[in-house]
Amino acid sequence: SEQVQAARAALEIKIRGKGCPPPVETWEQCGLRDRVLAVITRLGFGAPFAIQRQALPALMSGRDVIGVARTGSGKTLAFLLPLFRHILDQPPLGEGEGPIGLIMAPARELAVQIYTEAKKFTKALGLRVTAVYGGAMVADQIGDLKRGAEIVVCTPGRMIDILTMQAGKLVSLARVSFVVMDEADRMFDMGFEPQIRMILQNVRPDRQTALFSATFPPKVEALARKVLRAPLEIIVGGRSV
Ligand code: ADP
Ligand code: MG
Repeated sequence: SEQVQAARAALEIKIRGKGCPPPVETWEQCGLRDRVLAVITRLGFGAPFAIQRQALPALMSGRDVIGVARTGSGKTLAFLLPLFRHILDQPPLGEGEGPIGLIMAPARELAVQIYTEAKKFTKALGLRVTAVYGGAMVADQIGDLKRGAEIVVCTPGRMIDILTMQAGKLVSLARVSFVVMDEADRMFDMGFEPQIRMILQNVRPDRQTALFSATFPPKVEALARKVLRAPLEIIVGGRSV
């Protein structure tokens, strides 16, 4: 409608793809659980940022999403909150089962940032999150994975290392049904495309997939077209910074 178009224009949101739900104005409109809303209130967040207003309802509707918005624009919560909802809608993890949500990031410090942001919510939700990245003891990370975690944040290189140990019997991604590729432009620049594709071969084919990036060069778009299914493309403030 004209109203929705005006709201998007005011937020500098451009959409490609059919059937995108309208942007929300408040966290309460997102269909989040009371426990999630309580954490948002406790952390003192203001109204949702532009990428959150549009990517949240798009992901909550079950669609694959490409979200492009500059650094610092709040992309982390735009994918974490729908990821929590997705997981809480699934049967609980059984003994020895691998994660349901998998987030890939290009580097250790980014994986730790996402992990830290997720941790602010997981306790209240009864969920477990763990992180696997290079430059830290792989044995500790394997121990965490084996104890069970609904959400794993990883760098692609370390995830492949762990997946290929002990003939792949160490951890299973067979239950992963929600995948996030964060900072996709940086992952691509660092040459992680083969590892990303290998990881995606180990998760559920009917997964929901989100790709977030600060910029959206043609090479990243080509990767997105290959690994996402009928994605909604949500661009805030132009294609690149
Ligand atoms: P990006 O991934 O797009 O670079 P982040 O998700 O890291 O951005 O968010 C940047 C900062 O903004 C973080 O400190 C985050 O906690 C904060 N933030 C996110 N959403 C909101 C919001 N709606 N209101 C206030 N602060 C927010
Ligand atoms: Mg980020």
